[in-house]
Amino acid sequence: MNTTSYKQYLSSCKKSIEEQKEVKELSFTKIDDVAYGVFRNINKVKKIASDIKTKFINNITDNLVKFDKIFTENGGNVHWCVAYNDFIDKFIRIIDKQKIKTVNVFDSNFIEELGLKGVLKNNEITVDNETNDVVVFTPKFGVINTGSLFFEFASSVDMEQVLSSRIKIFVLPINDFVLKPEDIEIFSYLYYIYKYKKDYPYLTSLYTPQPLEKQNNIHIFLIDNGRSNILENREIRSALNCINCDACKDVCPVYTAIGDEPYDNVFSGPYANVVLPFLENVENYKHICFSCTGCGNCSKVCPMNIPISEYIISNKNYFFEKKIMDITDARLAKSLGKTLSSRESMNKSRFIKNLRIKLLVNNSKNITDNIVFSKFTFNQQYQQSLEKNE
Ligand code: SF4
Repeated sequence: MNTTSYKQYLSSCKKSIEEQKEVKELSFTKIDDVAYGVFRNINKVKKIASDIKTKFINNITDNLVKFDKIFTENGGNVHWCVAYNDFIDKFIRIIDKQKIKTVNVFDSNFIEELGLKGVLKNNEITVDNETNDVVVFTPKFGVINTGSLFFEFASSVDMEQVLSSRIKIFVLPINDFVLKPEDIEIFSYLYYIYKYKKDYPYLTSLYTPQPLEKQNNIHIFLIDNGRSNILENREIRSALNCINCDACKDVCPVYTAIGDEPYDNVFSGPYANVVLPFLENVENYKHICFSCTGCGNCSKVCPMNIPISEYIISNKNYFFEKKIMDITDARLAKSLGKTLSSRESMNKSRFIKNLRIKLLVNNSKNITDNIVFSKFTFNQQYQQSLEKNE
């Protein structure tokens, strides 16, 4: 693809691979060991978890309206935000109104996605991890039927700070919900096993605002930030079932070689290949799915049974069909496809094949330099072995 972002991406991949000191191991066995130690039938557990989440996602609007109603009745304030800047505007208004100059922001991937810390700095608001006056925190899940929030804490100090803070501000992507408190356990176990390869020993709390708590001091921001683009796209909708365990990264041969850097985003790895073009600008991220080798490890490991590998193929097709690729690149891909899938041309001599590929991609020296055709194709070697055995 002849786009600037793709070229940047490729050179960043190359740089990461060159700088890598040791090749990371893919961690299938470790995950399997722990998962089978905790659950007798992990496949059944994965199916149950995936069904629970799909039930929520398929009726997401009604479910979120229900959560809003209960949370508000219990004394909290619910703010719906389409994009991150919508959230930032509302957030700054609350902060300004209460003349707040210092907040305690707990780091999370979602806080990073929203770019909150940069915004606070620009608005001369100090981030202080000691204060428990105003706390910004990302719950693990919202619970629809009780209007509650499920928290996981790294330490008892964090727990104390969040639960005792005067003003509580929570941020949650619209897909991080379960329907009822009984659903929480299965997701917590799966998350911990697939993320940390350990059983489930950490600090949690189920929080429901109480009508006695002062109005205006508990806020939850329900933030879409591109997720409804995925919801609209039936072909990849179950990607919203993701519990952010990162297990797909641990088993991806491409990600373990290139790491986070080439993505230049809080999302990286196989899951990013599926969702980033829809969460962000398609133009800047349409190319990333083409780095996938199609090994299928990500789909195999995913605790939520998300067919990530199939979704990446679906993205590749989508970008071809919608002609989102540059016209020159689409032509090149077509010619390459024709050459590489023709038995006749692939059975030509190594010299002819190299020459043909160099002519086809003559504008991309780096690509042709790395292609080395073997002397005989598999088909030729097979024919030779048949002749030998006759
Ligand atoms: S796609 Fe699956 S494996 Fe990857 S982070 Fe999400 S839940 Fe985990």
